[in-house]
Amino acid sequence: MSIKENLNSLKNQIPEHITLVAVSKTKPVEDILQAYNAGHRVFGENKVQEMVDKFHSLPNDIKWHMIGHLQRNKVKYIAGFVDLIHGVDNLKLLKEINKQGLKNDRIINCLIQIKIATEDSKFGMSINEAKELITSEEFKNLENISIKGVMGMATFTDDKRQIKNEFESLDKGFNELKTSLNDMTTISMGMSGDYNIAIDAGSTMIRVGSSIFGSRQYQ
Ligand SMILES: *Cc1c(COP(=O)(O)O)cnc(C)c1O
Repeated sequence: MSIKENLNSLKNQIPEHITLVAVSKTKPVEDILQAYNAGHRVFGENKVQEMVDKFHSLPNDIKWHMIGHLQRNKVKYIAGFVDLIHGVDNLKLLKEINKQGLKNDRIINCLIQIKIATEDSKFGMSINEAKELITSEEFKNLENISIKGVMGMATFTDDKRQIKNEFESLDKGFNELKTSLNDMTTISMGMSGDYNIAIDAGSTMIRVGSSIFGSRQYQ
């Protein structure tokens, strides 16, 4: 099937209130254009340089989401145009995003990455750490960022029940954090292999790559 067909069949399967981030990492601009020409506008990348290059080569009404782990010293390269940063997991990074938001005269939307998987390799904060962060004095002074919600990745496993439990814990954590920050709207969870489970568990935003663009050469 073509990228357009994959995209349309995916859109037909998911409820309308779910935002679909088409994860285009490692894929050429031609592939992104196919999705763009089919009407899609939200794309996710996990590497700063790749996202910057694609931003310069593609139409400027694309919403670029940074879904990868973001290093502090690279925030400045995307601060002028990024639509949403999914992987914020510490105050120092958030402060840098705020600083670059100020420089670019914009408010940068962020999600706090919560560690829901059992694997050590996955990034993220605990819900308690996130709560401490968003209720701290330092956080209140950050006027050029807006926390829109949370993001999480489930353990890489065939055990659907475990994945479901992890996504449900993120949904629960989101609702806890929402009591301290009421303009939160977004739970970013679910990828090609588990978006149905994520949607059942309360996801509002899924990040899907290979089901749209085909498998990648490297991860
Ligand atoms: C690559 C990636 C995805 C998409 O993965 P697929 O399995 O190809 O859908 C989603 N989220 C993050 C954080 C990723 O790095």
